[in-house]
Amino acid sequence: MRVLVVGGGINGLLTARELVLAGHEVVLVERGEVGQESSWAGGGIISPLYPWRYAPPVTALARWAQSAYPALSQALLAETGIDVELNTCGMLFLDAHDERDALAWAQQQSVPVERIAPADLYQRWPGVAADVKHALFMPHVANVRNPRLLKALNVALQQHTRYQVITQADVSHIEGDTSQARVKLADGRVLEADQVVVCAGAWSALLLAPIQSLPIAPVRGQMQLYKLSPGQLPCMIQRGAHYVIPRLDGHVLCGSTLEHVGFDKSTTEHAAQTLRQAALSIWPALAQAPLIQQWSGLRPGSANGIPFIGALSKQPRVWINAGQFRNGLVLAPASARLLADQLLGRTPVIDPAPYQSLG
Ligand SMILES: Cc1cc2nc3c(=O)[nH]c(=O)nc-3n(C[C@H](O)[C@H](O)[C@H](O)COP(=O)(O)OP(=O)(O)OC[C@H]3O[C@@H](n4cnc5c(N)ncnc54)[C@H](O)[C@@H]3O)c2cc1C
Repeated sequence: MRVLVVGGGINGLLTARELVLAGHEVVLVERGEVGQESSWAGGGIISPLYPWRYAPPVTALARWAQSAYPALSQALLAETGIDVELNTCGMLFLDAHDERDALAWAQQQSVPVERIAPADLYQRWPGVAADVKHALFMPHVANVRNPRLLKALNVALQQHTRYQVITQADVSHIEGDTSQARVKLADGRVLEADQVVVCAGAWSALLLAPIQSLPIAPVRGQMQLYKLSPGQLPCMIQRGAHYVIPRLDGHVLCGSTLEHVGFDKSTTEHAAQTLRQAALSIWPALAQAPLIQQWSGLRPGSANGIPFIGALSKQPRVWINAGQFRNGLVLAPASARLLADQLLGRTPVIDPAPYQSLG
């Protein structure tokens, strides 16, 4: 089978990988360069933020994907020599107002969680802000260096003769009928295949609007990057709406904003101040750390963060894997597997019903 995948973010790359590994021919079509949009801009936390607050369909994908990440990162290292730095450093939640819900969810999901008394908090994490009243620690939560993950996926795919990537190719129209699917590019080229999978992130609804209306809208997120010494920040920490993420080389990301500003990817002074204050309210030593960079990305926002993964109801041979909102990096291995299972007629690893594009 020949499949066109539209969009070279984490969802497009992993969907392509699933299909290529299953023996199919894949052409990935990307408007810019592969792995430069939201999947690059994200923090790489391999968990939904406050995971207990999400609906079961998000948890189901997240739990499956979390267990798949170690094997994926090992396979990519073996195939490409690129270490995606999957770092299971754990996540500390400061002063969450719903700790009781978190403990109940963790018990139900068999997720390890520790309730941290204030005295223990400062003994174990002496650098935490001094005014914290209570905390929870989830030691199993990991993060991945997402730009390296994208690079490794790109390199691994290019080793397959069944795979082709076309960059700088803006898809302007998609259609399918009973015998074929077609993708038209803005420069007039037409590509044909047996199936098309739309993985265009925040742009998916715009692209599919002529054939089916889908509630996916861009939600801007801004992020800052600081530099400490390696190991100085030992784990990820979430407080209120913000979090800090350590990389193994001492870089620290602080995110993020949630802004409904359409497809505008600017960064703002307001966000710069908000993120800096947030960083210092979590880990005060960041006051001395140089700010390296600030950037933004457009998340594919969807209702309750539940993505669309499956066939379009209004167009044959056209599929979608998009709308993962704040959790596209963690959910990606499960999203891609679920899409491939449906497209290839295999028994799905997760019940696909909650992710269908009805209407
Ligand atoms: C600040 C921030 C922090 C985040 N932190 C995390 C986190 O810690 N953990 C987590 O799990 N998630 C996180 N996310 C969310 C995550 O990044 C996204 O959910 C995920 O990257 C979406 O992946 P995607 O492949 O669907 O979209 P994208 O990565 O945006 O890729 C879509 C691709 O489609 C291409 N495209 C669009 N239109 C067309 C067209 N017409 N023709 C051809 N190509 C097209 C685009 O150029 C792009 O390359 C964060 C996001 C942001 C912005």
